[in-house]
Amino acid sequence: MSKALETVLEIDLSALTHNFKYLKSKLQPQTKFLAVVKAFAYGSDSVEVAKHLEKLNVDYFAVAYVKEGVALRDAGIETPILVLHPQSINFRTLIERCLEPSIYSTHVLDEFIKVAEAQAQSNYPIHLKFNTGLNRLGFKESDIETIVAKLKKTVSIKATSLFSHLAASEDPKEADFTTLQINRFKTIANLFEKTSGLTPWLHLCNTSGIINYTEAHLDMVRSGIGLYGFGNSAEEDKKLKPIASLKSVISQIHSIEKDETVGYNRAYTSIGTERTATIPIGHADGINRIYGNENGYVIINNKEAPILGNVCMDMIMVNVTNIDCKEGDEVIIFNADYKASSLSNSAKTISYEIITSVSQRVKRIFLR
Ligand SMILES: *Cc1c(COP(=O)(O)O)cnc(C)c1O
Repeated sequence: MSKALETVLEIDLSALTHNFKYLKSKLQPQTKFLAVVKAFAYGSDSVEVAKHLEKLNVDYFAVAYVKEGVALRDAGIETPILVLHPQSINFRTLIERCLEPSIYSTHVLDEFIKVAEAQAQSNYPIHLKFNTGLNRLGFKESDIETIVAKLKKTVSIKATSLFSHLAASEDPKEADFTTLQINRFKTIANLFEKTSGLTPWLHLCNTSGIINYTEAHLDMVRSGIGLYGFGNSAEEDKKLKPIASLKSVISQIHSIEKDETVGYNRAYTSIGTERTATIPIGHADGINRIYGNENGYVIINNKEAPILGNVCMDMIMVNVTNIDCKEGDEVIIFNADYKASSLSNSAKTISYEIITSVSQRVKRIFLR
């Protein structure tokens, strides 16, 4: 780890290797591993993360949108890429760039067949998504006959896989519901196979599903947050390594008198003689305004420095009255020791939101 001289997101690719190998060690050898690299690989860098995982022989990638898949293809990624939430306006591009759509409704299926036929495709891989209780995207069990009829009428596409998504795989209190989802999915898969005579592969588990529901790994698993170092439980967090460290530096220190105010709208008033440090990171970099007014803190020389007053677009001011520090000292927002998950608890959000919020303005550096 190097000392930050500006605001940087440092990404440790050896931690990524560790997390990938740890998660893979939970799988049967024949189970495929799909790495979810949507949203800039959860706020890190999708291209570098995907290149690294490709070298480790990951089987599949997933992104949310076509544009994200195009960025990976532009960077030379050749591994298959599932697009979880494509919009039909982008289907031509999707096919041109060898991206594979999640198809979740008869309307979207019709639209995709139209484009695939117009481009004279044959057996273009698609992935059929079923809703088993999340009620977000997906076909119903009763759609199977219609889907199969449409598949039989065209040579343009091929159902490579069937999948669904768990609503609460991290929550032991919801274990009955998760089991219900697993059983619903198995019923759907059986019915689909019987109706169509096809045997697409099946996948259901996200990271917490991998950890908590070994019996549901099926032919492939889809992991996002685990690769980036979070296991959605204190015990699993210990075995994973957060790959990203968000760091900055003290630009200026001020000594202020009692009753002076700090920042926009004068939201903080000092209670005595105090020292404040100004840090070049603000809400445009991903430090949400919710962290202002001492709801959040940064780490300076191993001590918590609360954020004073309102978070500005490009800066925050923190209280360093009781911290031995000087201008140019390093500031840690989160890293492997000071986790985004503890920060997230104090702000009533989840690690997913903290890490994916680091804006593209923040320079990424890579440890290899
Ligand atoms: C984002 C996403 C995942 C990854 O979930 P994690 O909890 O981050 O492992 C898997 N499947 C689908 C459909 C997703 O949208």
